[in-house]
Amino acid sequence: MTLQGTTALVTGGSRGIGRAIALRLAREGAAVAVNYRERRSDAEAVVAQIQGAGGRALAVGADVGDAQAVASMVQRIEQEFGPVAVLVNNAGITRRGDLLDFDYSQMEGMRRTNVDGLVNVTRAVVSGMQARRYGRIVNLSSIAANGTALAGTTFYAATKAAVSVLTKRFAMELGPHGITVNAVAPGFVPTDLTFQNRTPEQVATVTERLSAITMVRRAGTPEDIAHAVAFLVSPESSFITAQILTVDGGRLDYIAHP
Ligand code: NDP
Repeated sequence: MTLQGTTALVTGGSRGIGRAIALRLAREGAAVAVNYRERRSDAEAVVAQIQGAGGRALAVGADVGDAQAVASMVQRIEQEFGPVAVLVNNAGITRRGDLLDFDYSQMEGMRRTNVDGLVNVTRAVVSGMQARRYGRIVNLSSIAANGTALAGTTFYAATKAAVSVLTKRFAMELGPHGITVNAVAPGFVPTDLTFQNRTPEQVATVTERLSAITMVRRAGTPEDIAHAVAFLVSPESSFITAQILTVDGGRLDYIAHP
């Protein structure tokens, strides 16, 4: 176990990829704060699963877009488990649309979670990391930010491009303080996020279509992403920073791909 004795905060840990990350970091020995926005019972189920396996975990509600709520959440985690050494900025939402059909009033909410949320939570934990000269931060970007050509993701991609740039800029600022900042850019991983506004038949069709243009010929799983995060947050990854690790099974539909 690589994270014995450390405290990890996983935003959006109640479902999907965040849930898999929370479970994986707990397996590595971390005490895990499982953040959620609305679905408290889902977060508590993740906590119960970790505790059932002999680990330590705590469900903590806060909208990451609300800086005040985030500060209170971090205070509670630190009282319960001690300082946060590992932060995974996973909470994210998507709203579909491209230039001509996107309801632009949706942009603010998406940016509030995907971008402001990341800034709020990072700010809330970083002074403690600086004081102890140690920290591991991993942000969830997306291959949409790398330039995939999937319809309906234009504006979501723009928020994730911001995540990728902020990752590199924060890494530059925090490196001298012993803190690494990286991102994981997942490919297609069926979760509630990808099911949103799609029927199960549509999800099956999209999964089949995207698997066919993926080198390993399958969709990703939340555990595939959690594995990459666990690598980046381990103490041994101290010489890896400012990187965007793409975990997409080898997607072939990037803009400018031949
Ligand atoms: P899900 O929709 O399955 O889960 C989203 C999680 O984020 C939930 O735990 C939800 O909490 C939480 N959340 C949403 N908004 C907020 C908020 N404002 N404050 C706190 N928590 C919030 O998403 P995925 O697991 O699919 O996605 C996880 C991350 O991975 C996201 O950043 C997403 O953009 C990224 N990603 C996903 C891909 C995929 O194919 N699935 C591909 C590329 C990137 P609650 O349960 O309380 O609602």
